[in-house]
Amino acid sequence: MLRIKNLKCYYGRIMAIKGVSLSVRKGELISLIGANGAGKSTLLEAICGLLPGWKGEILFEDEPLAGLDPPSVVRRGISLVPEGRLIFPPLSVTDNLKLGAYTLYRRKRHKDVAADLEMIRDMFPILRERANQPAGTLSGGEQQMLAIGRALMARPRLLALDEPSMGLAPLMVEQILETLLTLRQQGLTILLVEQNAQAALKIADRGYVLETGKVVLQGPASELLTDSEVKRAYLGRD
Ligand code: ATP
Repeated sequence: MLRIKNLKCYYGRIMAIKGVSLSVRKGELISLIGANGAGKSTLLEAICGLLPGWKGEILFEDEPLAGLDPPSVVRRGISLVPEGRLIFPPLSVTDNLKLGAYTLYRRKRHKDVAADLEMIRDMFPILRERANQPAGTLSGGEQQMLAIGRALMARPRLLALDEPSMGLAPLMVEQILETLLTLRQQGLTILLVEQNAQAALKIADRGYVLETGKVVLQGPASELLTDSEVKRAYLGRD
């Protein structure tokens, strides 16, 4: 579904991604792990049209994404849940969700949008309970649910998430990752970027380890979880 070949990303003359190749097949949940500054966010930004001037190839459903702006990428079928959530605090929870359907995607069929809103509220009942409350009054975990819900409102075929566990309590992390598993079981393809390697690999089919802009390890998530190098560097145990 997504194929990245020899991707190179630059900030000025600094190369932040140094020739990365990776693939995500339809229906897979792929975790991309790596330390702070490894280039995980940069890679997602390149996919989503947020980073000009990258080199290499990014194909989504066999079509190149080069040169597309973020709304075009969303319309192609990729939604991003950005790092730090980036919800709109003064707007109500429901208006934040609707932004996902109308601002980037410009969906026309209001009945379908209403049905999706209900589906997302069933998935995250707190978003129904707090429907009219300013989004900024939600807890961090609730805001993360809102950010995921907003991304789903564009009906993506590929959902990309940038560190959804960041700053959340362990129980909330578990709940968010459970939701991702459910979405995958429903057939959604997911690319999950995480520093929380243990949690991300536990729910993934396959994983990639990124280090200073390069893929240093890849394979089935179960194998990475027991790999001695991954354990030493990312899981904090021998
Ligand atoms: P984090 O978990 O901290 O977000 P990351 O793995 O997502 O880390 P990136 O944010 O993609 O890493 O950063 C990759 C490299 O690019 C880092 O060395 C970073 O300092 C650099 N970088 C990121 N954004 C910029 C920018 N706007 N200008 C210059 N350098 C940048």
